[in-house]
Amino acid sequence: MRGHVYRRGCTCKKKKKCICGSKWAFIIDIGIDPITGKRKQKTKNGFATRLEVETAASTLIHELNVELYVEETHQTFSNFATEWLPIYSEAKDVKPGTIRVRLHEINKLLPYFARLKLKDVSVKKYQEALNDLKE
Ligand SMILES: [Zn+2]
Repeated sequence: MRGHVYRRGCTCKKKKKCICGSKWAFIIDIGIDPITGKRKQKTKNGFATRLEVETAASTLIHELNVELYVEETHQTFSNFATEWLPIYSEAKDVKPGTIRVRLHEINKLLPYFARLKLKDVSVKKYQEALNDLKE
C-alpha cells in the first residue's frame, strides 16, 4: 500500500517553497479491485499543514490494514486460496512453474483446511496437516 502527499493545485515553480497557500492532499493506493484488476486509490484534500495530511494518511493506511486483516482472517481457507491465486499469478515475477507448485500445495491442503476460517488455521493444525501429508 503506497501513497503520497502533495499540495493540491499548487502552481509555484519551486514546490518545496510554496507561497501560493495551496491546501495539502493525499492519494493512497488501497489495493487492486479483484473484479476489474484496476488499482484503487483514495484521495482527500483540504489539509492546512503537511503534518495534518500525513497524520490523516497514516491513520487511513492503518485502518485499511486492520480492515483487510479482519476480512482475510474471517475468510475460509478455500475462498481465500481461490481469490489469492489469480492475484498472485498476475504478479510479474511469478513463473508459471511456481504457480503450478502453489496450486498443487493448495489442493493438498484443501482437504484439511477448506472450510476453516483463516484465523482458525493454527501452526499446530498446519503442522499436523504437513505430517499427515508426509506419510
Ligand atoms: Zn504553491
